[in-house]
Amino acid sequence: MIRIGENTYYHAIICLNGHIISDSIESFETKMGFCKDCGKPTINKCQNCKNPIHGDMYIPNFVNAIQMESPSFCYGCGNPYPWTKSKINALEELIDFEEKLSETNKEDLKKNINDIINETPRTKIATIKFKHLLTKMGKETGIMAKNLAVEMASETAKKYFLEK
Ligand SMILES: [Zn+2]
Ligand SMILES: [Zn+2]
Repeated sequence: MIRIGENTYYHAIICLNGHIISDSIESFETKMGFCKDCGKPTINKCQNCKNPIHGDMYIPNFVNAIQMESPSFCYGCGNPYPWTKSKINALEELIDFEEKLSETNKEDLKKNINDIINETPRTKIATIKFKHLLTKMGKETGIMAKNLAVEMASETAKKYFLEK
């Protein structure tokens, strides 16, 4: 079990692409392997600070049947997990690929990604700016970029993305 603040969590095993292998292991000493969905190696700790990856919250006498989502950032060092990094890279690649955007637009879009996925004082403004810039993209690429951003977005950013 892992204690973070007031809460206790199970250990998790997640593949490098973010597929959850297990979110409710009690011990850290579980055999590691490869993901059955994508074949990538699995990890159970942050590759940066070595803190274990947490799974579901542990509540005594309660079985949580809903699988959690992979955490985006490490609670120990604040760095994005490998699957978060891959998604950020994919989103940046898509932005760079869009011919309809000026270089300034591209830089502005990329600058806002971190504040969209982290809860920061800039989250609201970053999301609004990002949404506005998306309208300058092609229809298909714009939708794709929005979906990628929403997948990673913090709760606050999600709210602003889904708002008209
Ligand atoms: Zn996988
Ligand atoms: Zn870490």
